[in-house]
Amino acid sequence: MADRTAGRVLIRSTAPSLYIHVPVCTRKCDYCDFFSCAPETFPPDSLPVPDRITRTLIREITQRSTEFSVSRWNTVYIGGGTPSLLSPDNLADLCSSFSCSGEISMEANPESITGPWLAAAADCGITRLSIGIQSLHDPLLRAVGRRGSVNAARKALDTVADFWHGQLSVDLICGIPGQTDTMLLDDIREVSRYPVDHVSLYSLMVEPGTPLSRRLEHTPGFHLPDNEQDLWFSARDALEEAGFLQYEVSNFAKPGKECHHNLVYWHMDPYLGAGPSAVGTMPNGDESVRYTNTRDLTAWFSDPSQHQDIEHISRKDTLFEVLLMGFRLNAGISRKRFENRFSTDILVSIAQAVDSWEKRGLLVVEGDSVALTRNGLPLLNRFISDCMEELFHQ
Ligand code: SF4
Repeated sequence: MADRTAGRVLIRSTAPSLYIHVPVCTRKCDYCDFFSCAPETFPPDSLPVPDRITRTLIREITQRSTEFSVSRWNTVYIGGGTPSLLSPDNLADLCSSFSCSGEISMEANPESITGPWLAAAADCGITRLSIGIQSLHDPLLRAVGRRGSVNAARKALDTVADFWHGQLSVDLICGIPGQTDTMLLDDIREVSRYPVDHVSLYSLMVEPGTPLSRRLEHTPGFHLPDNEQDLWFSARDALEEAGFLQYEVSNFAKPGKECHHNLVYWHMDPYLGAGPSAVGTMPNGDESVRYTNTRDLTAWFSDPSQHQDIEHISRKDTLFEVLLMGFRLNAGISRKRFENRFSTDILVSIAQAVDSWEKRGLLVVEGDSVALTRNGLPLLNRFISDCMEELFHQ
């Protein structure tokens, strides 16, 4: 199948996946660097914000489907922002604007979850719900300026246990100021008593310019835990004891319950994005083409697929991105897939890095797979830097 974008012919063999960005949050969390705005800051219009977002997303999805000749998406992920601020009617309209042959995942904040909302999500074809719990300790939620409360999170988990029959993911954050081992392990124990099949355990990222970064800089005694790495390892062990297997740097799942949409990113399979700030990346032979949508809401509402930056990514940079994403997975990179894409063996492309890391027991080549070991994965950044050195100085 071939598409024309920005004058280039894009060849692809699998249907792309679709990321849908819902750019609204009732209040911004102090650590957040994603593009989302409070409803009252949206450009004025007679339509309510969720209706307007839904209508424009449908326009963009329709335009992107035509532009890239997609009749059925591989997987769909509705993220944000807070997509659960969309009403059941918004969601029904949005989901009837596309067809998907695989998982349809959606993020939800605990405060939006009710029995009727879950029933509507299931009716719309959502197969995986991802709830942003972050912590089951109120002081920690307050430390990162996260709205909501532990009571709301528990109520949401109870409601989901009663009414939701699809897959269930939860997000937890490791490394919040004031967080101890006991707090994080209690959270994991509590979460694993619910029918959760997937946990994302993110290390708190302090993005420059966020309120959190300013508070860390200016508040005496307010700092990240000194033992963040030990905290993360204890949490990993607790998750594994609870039956969640690590399959990616920050992601754990019961066997067979990995998030299909996120695997698309780590495999660098084709995906398109809809919504302000959304990104799409399509392979073009051994190169790729990436577009990034505008963050200007007025421009996006006026013509959602026209305001974008387009970047042509060279073979070398594409190959590097495949390494960067693929080595995040416990399963690593398939030699066959790599060779199909770049007409070269990965063991040749990064021969020195493979040799040196394999000798130290930090990487293993087994059958079709090249992967970092359990001890190697936490050193991913150093490995990637070795790969970069080798690739870009050849
Ligand atoms: S709910 Fe999520 S997207 Fe919204 S501000 Fe908080 S972290 Fe950011």
